[in-house]
Amino acid sequence: MNIKPLRILELTFAGLTAELKQRYGKGKYHAAAVYREVYRNGNSDFSGAYEFSKSKKFLSELEKDLVFDPGPVVRTKKEGDLVKFITRLEDGLEIESVIIPMATHKTICVSTQIGCRMGCSFCETAQLGFRRSLTVAEIVGQVYSAKFVFDLEVRNIVFMGMGEPLDNFENLIQAILVMQDPRGLDIALSHMTVSTVGKVEGIRRLAALNWPRLNLAISLNAPNNRIRSKIMPANLTDSMDRIKSALLKYPLKKKGTFFIEYVLIKDVNDSHKHAHELAQFLKPLPTKLNLIPYNPRSNSPFKPPSDEDLDRFRGWLVDEKLFVRRRSAKGRDILAGCGQLGNRQVLRLPDKENRMK
Ligand code: SAH
Repeated sequence: MNIKPLRILELTFAGLTAELKQRYGKGKYHAAAVYREVYRNGNSDFSGAYEFSKSKKFLSELEKDLVFDPGPVVRTKKEGDLVKFITRLEDGLEIESVIIPMATHKTICVSTQIGCRMGCSFCETAQLGFRRSLTVAEIVGQVYSAKFVFDLEVRNIVFMGMGEPLDNFENLIQAILVMQDPRGLDIALSHMTVSTVGKVEGIRRLAALNWPRLNLAISLNAPNNRIRSKIMPANLTDSMDRIKSALLKYPLKKKGTFFIEYVLIKDVNDSHKHAHELAQFLKPLPTKLNLIPYNPRSNSPFKPPSDEDLDRFRGWLVDEKLFVRRRSAKGRDILAGCGQLGNRQVLRLPDKENRMK
């Protein structure tokens, strides 16, 4: 007898088919029905599907083993049409995800861990410390909820929520495989972006998968190792030079680019000299740079840049022939902006500093 639960949110169509075969001697026909009901129709009760009308015994066995667990969405916060939603997990911990309105579609910003162990000094999530990595079902569940609880056409996914995706490598990869399954959520690899502090081992493992269509973003945030190591301790292990050589070997698609995230922090990384150093560093790499205004975290030692600071820095980079986009400060007011995810409640810490009531 099989006692291991069959977690539908962790399985590709091929994976589910293999499980049905091994466990019950069934196959594609029923897997297709389950997959369609769950992922296409948002219907976790597939007992009404015609494929099961003549296999009631199998249906009841399957219903016993199958686990469907996106977790309840327990709170939402809105700013304009940007939504932050919080999901409660089986162990009572909570995760935050953000639905970002774009011109023609929605982008979902997904968490991969509860807390984070990268320790970046400007990031709210890092201040909470690390609790645990998310399971495949918990990662996929966020996108599932965005689609069916909020009734959205989800097209893009960015792994830029809480945590470091490459610090949860296997689950991240399986979640990507599940979410891109054409019979299920059907989100193209080219519409997913993995964002990392630059964990070189993870970048190499990603490279080995040879998925040139998956987008890779590096949170660089500094023009040189001295500044970067001060604000991002991960740089002490994986310096900018190591990151650069890993990127130079990465299998990009033809005319593909890396995305570079640069959080502009007043008086830390925002001078003309910094812009020049940054441009020199990026020269050998095909990149698009996202300039993100620093969102002050709680008890922040840093100051955000003014609009003029941002425009000036951007101008210097454009003079250096870099491709630069300015990321808006959307979501700041509901603490859904970059680097603002996480609150004491999600980690069940004492309530006193809880910022999200
Ligand atoms: N750990 C991954 C995924 C998190 S993405 C990574 O670092 O890429 C979160 C993004 O928000 C990163 O680009 C990070 O540099 C940025 N960020 C963190 N704190 C921020 C803050 N206070 N204001 C603006 N951006 C921030």
